[in-house]
Amino acid sequence: MVLPLEALLDETAARIIAAAEELTALDSAIGDADHGLNMKRGFEAVLADKTNILSKPAGEALKSLGMTLVMKVGGASGPLYGTLFMTLGKELPDDPAPADVARALAAAVTALKARGKADFGNKTMLDVLGPVADHLAGGGASLASVRALAAARAEATVPMKAIRGRASFLGERSVGHMDPGARSSQIMIEAICNVLEGKA
Ligand code: ADP
Ligand code: MG
Repeated sequence: MVLPLEALLDETAARIIAAAEELTALDSAIGDADHGLNMKRGFEAVLADKTNILSKPAGEALKSLGMTLVMKVGGASGPLYGTLFMTLGKELPDDPAPADVARALAAAVTALKARGKADFGNKTMLDVLGPVADHLAGGGASLASVRALAAARAEATVPMKAIRGRASFLGERSVGHMDPGARSSQIMIEAICNVLEGKA
């Protein structure tokens, strides 16, 4: 399939920028209230660099997007999302089949785990990205099932106790709040599903 890169980039950026206040509110409960602002700054920079990013083949475009996120998002999430997109760019052929997308996402999740020294169940973005990668690896996943899984996994971070990231400083007090990075990952996955389903 030829990836509709421009639409994917536009929709993902628009949804993340629109969610800035919500993400910051989540981060104010268990972090330092900057996740929304960090992500907004990162995706505004991606939009500003859009012509350059889209002039490249898909793999290089994703690497370039990842590098912009590393430079502009900051915090813990910038290098982590940067690693995710740069690994996707490295692993994805320019004309990927669904199985290539599944394999590339699995590799990106492995790289992200190594970069953040985190595992599933630590109350981070990995708790959305990991299950979605596993679901895709099973083959034949519908976009509706991917969207529903991402939403359920973000919700499932609410009762978790944070083991990694700033929220872990709160110990038990991190319980009862959704992880901001899990929510931003869910929003990106939803945006991608919307575009691929022709809803955006
Ligand atoms: P900071 O915590 O530096 O303020 P952000 O607020 O932008 O950075 O991002 C916080 C999010 O980053 C968390 O909600 C969590 O999902 C994610 N995160 C933090 N540390 C890790 C880690 N070691 N591995 C995976 N994700 C992490
Ligand atoms: Mg923060």
